[in-house]
Amino acid sequence: TLVLGIETSCDETAAALVLGGNDVVSNVVSTQIDLHAEFGGVVPEIASRAHLDVLNPVVARAIVEGGVDESRIDAVACTVGPGLVGALLVGVSAAKSLALAWDKPFIGVNHMEAHLYAASLEDPTLEFPLVVMLVSGGHTMLIEMRGHGQYVLLGQTIDDAAGEAFDKVARFLELGYPGGPAIDRAAMLGDPDAIPFPRAMKDDGLDFSFSGLKTAVMNYVRKHPDVGDADVAASFQMAVVDVLVHKARKAAKQVGATGIVLGGGVAANSLLREELLGACETDGIQGFLPSREMCTDNAAMIAAAGWHRLRSDGPTPLDVGATPNLRLPLLEA
Ligand code: ATP
Ligand code: MG
Ligand code: FE
Repeated sequence: TLVLGIETSCDETAAALVLGGNDVVSNVVSTQIDLHAEFGGVVPEIASRAHLDVLNPVVARAIVEGGVDESRIDAVACTVGPGLVGALLVGVSAAKSLALAWDKPFIGVNHMEAHLYAASLEDPTLEFPLVVMLVSGGHTMLIEMRGHGQYVLLGQTIDDAAGEAFDKVARFLELGYPGGPAIDRAAMLGDPDAIPFPRAMKDDGLDFSFSGLKTAVMNYVRKHPDVGDADVAASFQMAVVDVLVHKARKAAKQVGATGIVLGGGVAANSLLREELLGACETDGIQGFLPSREMCTDNAAMIAAAGWHRLRSDGPTPLDVGATPNLRLPLLEA
């Protein structure tokens, strides 16, 4: 089954062709980062307009790069939420139109479920139960994946998402947008032990809290105006990664996971990748890090999640709309 995936939930316009749920035939991403950079964050109206401008060419390119005739496409999968409503609508309308025109099934995909599938897309040998740590601009969640479509929420942030903390601290330090990569780069020149920033809730269950850390960074810099950005960035990053890795390990032990998988944009973080792999090696479990392009928003993961949903639930009715606050379907713990 060849699935065309479409993603327009935030600031990436993406289309991809995936065969059989894990064979990526083509994967095209057009990012709007430059359009939003001058505003220091995603501007919803600009995002919707940009999706409208580039979605058709992006879909066309995914089909051309895949080297297949569009008559070979068996289903059209598209993110229906969570995300920005105007941005989602562009992709949902296009995907439904294509499904109708081609007389093929439409599959509405949950964006967070798709992030869960990004890792198994690159390593289909991963075995359940897995602990997936989803760390993005909008979410920080520890999820036990018991099987396809079977998720138990083990912990989540009670305030800011991890990526949000990176973005806010980077903005405060005037390191640039988006903040995660900017902190990652700045931290390479700094000392991660220079400043003992707080590790909120570290020994306190599997939930996270990052807003106090952001405030601690601001207070420290105001009190020590001469401190170097590199040391602040490195110490902040260490504090975030320390807590993330500690809790991911604890979660894996708790549920007897075969491994830990990272997902979401923050999974591109160099220190997080290094520390998580080291921890998994120590604990004798698998650590799996999707490539950076699979961690951030893309449509291959949408097509993959869509393939699994089509198998389990069949096509999605065409009257399903965009749902900005769509939740991940969860099992009781
Ligand atoms: P969601 O998927 O929750 O709706 P989103 O689409 O904004 O949110 P992603 O696109 O998955 O999230 O990730 C973007 C986030 O990842 C931003 O907060 C960005 O700063 C962060 N990020 C990207 N690269 C890095 C990095 N190297 N280190 C830390 N954070 C990073
Ligand atoms: Mg994004
Ligand atoms: Fe995302």
